[in-house]
Amino acid sequence: MAGVSYPGSHSDPSDPSDPSGPSGSFGSPQPRRSRLRRPVTVGLALLVPGALLGWLAYEALGAPGSGGAGGGAAGAGASSSAGATVGAGGDAKPNTLAASPSRAAAPLEGKVVVIDPGHNPANAEHASEINRKVDIGTNWKECDTTGTSTNAGYSEATFTLDVAHRLRALLQEQGATVKLTQDADRPFGPCVDERARIGNAAHADAVVSIHADGAGAGQRGFHVILPGSVHKGLADNRAVVAPSKELGELIAGDFARSTGTSPSNYVGDGTGLVTREDLGGLNLSTVPKVFIECGNMRDTKDAALLTSGAWRQKAAQGMSEGIVSFLRG
Ligand SMILES: [Zn+2]
Repeated sequence: MAGVSYPGSHSDPSDPSDPSGPSGSFGSPQPRRSRLRRPVTVGLALLVPGALLGWLAYEALGAPGSGGAGGGAAGAGASSSAGATVGAGGDAKPNTLAASPSRAAAPLEGKVVVIDPGHNPANAEHASEINRKVDIGTNWKECDTTGTSTNAGYSEATFTLDVAHRLRALLQEQGATVKLTQDADRPFGPCVDERARIGNAAHADAVVSIHADGAGAGQRGFHVILPGSVHKGLADNRAVVAPSKELGELIAGDFARSTGTSPSNYVGDGTGLVTREDLGGLNLSTVPKVFIECGNMRDTKDAALLTSGAWRQKAAQGMSEGIVSFLRG
């Protein structure tokens, strides 16, 4: 086992610059294509002036979806005599285009996202501390656990930190304020109750706790864990059950699409969603929060994904897209 290495298994610890496959490839083909169409439009317009007005009217009034960029471009390049007519329809498009970069630059401005990288690489060296019981409202549970690992020894704690770093970078690009509950910058933990309180104290608009599972071989796929309604002892998450469900559903959908990974084949009945009332991190949260189990580290096929930097980038991308959708409402 020790001699076998999975692709990417040593490129790890928290290397967000790890060359990461297909990120950022979205979206560029379309604008390029509409730019190419422009000369054709203008060429036709010069040959058939009568048709030009009809075409421009069509562009201005109709087909805003398909011909949007081309229509705006034709308007800009058209003669001034047609300008008045074109202006009405054409104006809206350049304005939209001009406005979108600034809006798109920081759509999450003012939003706070807390990322909770599950476990801590040093938990194993602090058994007595992490075994201490903490009050989670419904129960008393261990402060934290060591987490699992692949059969080749790639740890869940290393995985969760790496994905957390990638996700943080993506969310910061969107203008969000991002806080991690731990960054391997403390000897152990934090305990699950403290993890919840960090999100609460930050008044987070969304919290995602990142994990990977340790199930049996052949059990594959991801699942998102939603908070069940808990009102007991210290715990009262009733106000955030509904928004957390929305957050979780959006993350699950975008995660599946971004990674091409199927929902869990062992929990959640194929939905990729599970509701639980036994997790302190969810019971004690007063802000929208979900967990995601990105895959099963103990299955060799899932492990091959989890140990790939390119796949982890896609995982972070999917989470980021879900969070952005949730926060933009
Ligand atoms: Zn875990």
